[in-house]
Amino acid sequence: MYGLSAADEDIRARARAFADELIPFEVQAELAGGLPDDIAAAHKKRAIELGLFATNMPRDLGGGGASTLQQVLVQEQVGRVTNALGWVAATPPSWFPPVATADQVERYLAPTVRGEREECYAITEEGAGTDVDAIEATAYRDGDSWVLNGVKWHVTSYNSADYAFFQAKKIDDAERGRPAPGTAHLLFLVDLPSPGVSVVRTPAYTHTISHHHPVVAFEDVRVPAANLVGADGDGMLYSREWFRFERLMVAARCTGAAERLVAEMTAFAATRVAGGVPIAGHGLVAGMLADSVTELFAARSMLYETARAIDRDPADTRTAHAQCSMIKLYCSEMAGRVADRAVQVFGGRGYMRENVAERFFRELRVERIWEGTSEIQRMIIARQLTGRGVAALA
Ligand SMILES: Cc1cc2nc3c(=O)[nH]c(=O)nc-3n(C[C@H](O)[C@H](O)[C@H](O)COP(=O)(O)OP(=O)(O)OC[C@H]3O[C@@H](n4cnc5c(N)ncnc54)[C@H](O)[C@@H]3O)c2cc1C
Repeated sequence: MYGLSAADEDIRARARAFADELIPFEVQAELAGGLPDDIAAAHKKRAIELGLFATNMPRDLGGGGASTLQQVLVQEQVGRVTNALGWVAATPPSWFPPVATADQVERYLAPTVRGEREECYAITEEGAGTDVDAIEATAYRDGDSWVLNGVKWHVTSYNSADYAFFQAKKIDDAERGRPAPGTAHLLFLVDLPSPGVSVVRTPAYTHTISHHHPVVAFEDVRVPAANLVGADGDGMLYSREWFRFERLMVAARCTGAAERLVAEMTAFAATRVAGGVPIAGHGLVAGMLADSVTELFAARSMLYETARAIDRDPADTRTAHAQCSMIKLYCSEMAGRVADRAVQVFGGRGYMRENVAERFFRELRVERIWEGTSEIQRMIIARQLTGRGVAALA
């Protein structure tokens, strides 16, 4: 099915077997808010051994050099696992290698590809999420250093990260107030911990995973000039490229989650007897199963085609941008619908935290919010549709 090559089937099978190894740890992680460090470290080591780590990075840096389709196949499988246990099959920033200096490769990128260092992203602020240009974080040059200030929200994985990508607007000196809209964005590498970087608070979120999302203050944080990423003023360019990649990977993980849910609710419906017959024999339940597998098939077909289009013509980033929005929108909303039906099919059991449907029902909600909300994906899609016509997108 889906015309996968032998190499595609091979990496998919490895990722599927790895996901099956992680699934038995889900309930432990759910109840404890994560796994003990030694188990989590063993899972990461296993992901590296199986060739499932940094699949998106170039081979000359030690990465997997996988095609976009193969990266999708891996993320789809690890998406079958709840509680973010599959995140150990990490994908470091794919936009970074072409712009990283030799020094940045040595200090940040290569150790990240080897699994020795981890990154986090500090972009969003209290007043700037969807509208990234509203950020108020600032950076000014002082001799051989940059001085960074700002308060960042939802900094995912800050508690395990060794460094942060910090996005700020460039100002001339410490005296100037708020940066004007349209001011150039800069991206910096900030080692963690660093003097001036502190956690303001660590809010609880809907999911229970080991990765926290604290509010983090950066106060007069000094980084060497060598920690500016890429060209002066290109900060937004990299964030946009990252969104495109991550939207596709969100779609892949949502498709994997939907597959797991369809399989689990179908198995339950085939054996749970109510009214003298397995509940799958009741038309209203059968309808939920049928709708879910149909949407899964549509999502997966679209997902693989989107990935293949990028592999065929990587230079067409404009079409990829729209199609990655389309696939993120469709798969995240589809997975939410499937999770909602799965809870319903499991009945009271579907409301128990030990049940996969309950966990995915909560965990999948954020897929419609992060990496650009569903509303923003629709705006991107509609903008290209009205500008380029339907044939350019579908
Ligand atoms: C669990 C979690 C982890 C995250 N991790 C990170 C991270 O690691 N690093 C990071 O930098 N950020 C992170 N984020 C932030 C995330 O990317 C933002 O929450 C997201 O982009 C939405 O921004 P916002 O929350 O400010 O919502 P807002 O921008 O305030 O939007 C609120 C609502 O208004 C709608 N809206 C806004 N503008 C428009 C518009 N122009 N047209 C139509 N509707 C609009 C939105 O769709 C949404 O429904 C994370 C968020 C969460 C919840």
